[in-house]
Amino acid sequence: MSRGGTYRSLQPKPTPCKLCGAPIFFVISTGTNRRIPCDPEAVEDGDTVVLQDGVHADVLGPDAARAWVGRKYRCHFATCPQTRAYRRKRGIPEPASTKEPSGAW
Ligand SMILES: [Zn+2]
Repeated sequence: MSRGGTYRSLQPKPTPCKLCGAPIFFVISTGTNRRIPCDPEAVEDGDTVVLQDGVHADVLGPDAARAWVGRKYRCHFATCPQTRAYRRKRGIPEPASTKEPSGAW
């Protein structure tokens, strides 16, 4: 009885990626509270699950992601061809290390 209607249109509306132009949508990670871009197509090996509010998302670890049977999305950082080139060019190793709040909160 609870099948079907629960997961409809959770996904926020897509916008084009500024770097490569591919359609993406933004969600806020419940773990880091950061906005993360996702590819709009659900994929089998994704690890990002959009919550029912359509705004936040859980980023699952590898085991949890495998066990999850619902829709999973993939962070666009992992698939964007331009992000990689951009990072390499600027010598940025990881996005997380560039702007740390240094434990302020
Ligand atoms: Zn892109």
